[in-house]
Amino acid sequence: MAKLGNMKNTAEILKKYDFHFRKKYGQNFLVDESVLERIVKEAEIGPEDLVLEIGPGIGTMTQYLAESAGQVAAVEIDDELIPILAETLGDYDNVRVIHGDILKVDVGALVQEMNGGRPAKVVANLPYYITTPIIMQLLESRLPLKSITVMVQREVADRMQAGPGTKDYGALSLAVQYYSNPQIVANVPPNCFVPRPNVGSAVIRLTLKEEPDPKVRDEAFLFRIIRAAFNQRRKTLPNSISHDPSLGISRERVAEVLEQMGLPATIRGEALTPEQFAQLSDLLMP
Ligand code: SAM
Repeated sequence: MAKLGNMKNTAEILKKYDFHFRKKYGQNFLVDESVLERIVKEAEIGPEDLVLEIGPGIGTMTQYLAESAGQVAAVEIDDELIPILAETLGDYDNVRVIHGDILKVDVGALVQEMNGGRPAKVVANLPYYITTPIIMQLLESRLPLKSITVMVQREVADRMQAGPGTKDYGALSLAVQYYSNPQIVANVPPNCFVPRPNVGSAVIRLTLKEEPDPKVRDEAFLFRIIRAAFNQRRKTLPNSISHDPSLGISRERVAEVLEQMGLPATIRGEALTPEQFAQLSDLLMP
């Protein structure tokens, strides 16, 4: 089977199977060999690795991964792609295609079965309509993962990597940085995909921390505080946090705690570091 990763071989396969792109599945296939090689390099894939690929499409990146990794598990939702993958990946005996929705697959059990529980690496050109739910589920479930190297919308990559005091800094930055160290490793223009997306893309690598940090008394409470702070982004913290009725914390109490932390009551969430959010959460917790 000819290697994919260019327009000619991709078009031939699509034609042979009379495949029509499904917008609802966020299908934009990579047709640029240098981008594919770059992703595999940045993900630091070696023969000892189990790679979990989300959404193999017609198997383009899967072929590149299979050549570098020990094993690849590729989870694809679209039933029309399953027979295509049987052909394009037929030459690789270290690839297992799983037909299903990544949000419903038991990734922990899969890694246990295929890798004896040793951490796997996630590599994917993600469907953009569910980028954030996929990443948050992988991080929050505390799965045995070393890293997550994914193609996402440039704007989402910027938000994941942003620090305090910037316009992109928000709940997503804090959540991603609580579990991992993010680094944007490549920018990818629309012409590297078919069909072309309307937005620029970037590859971001999230290297998982051994333990999430900063440490807090209650992780769920921390994220409720963070969400409240950024739901009312333009408001001061006493106003935004007291505005969330489910928290039941008064404006005065938030101002008091901020004062205890040496911060003014006029401060907004976007100015707080992750450590300051952790301290605020611990002090506000009933
Ligand atoms: N990896 C291929 C490539 O780079 O050319 C295709 C990437 S395309 C952006 C996203 C792929 O994810 C599509 O094949 C789509 O069908 C699949 N997909 C969408 N939602 C999914 C889900 N919930 N679970 C698994 N795969 C999904």
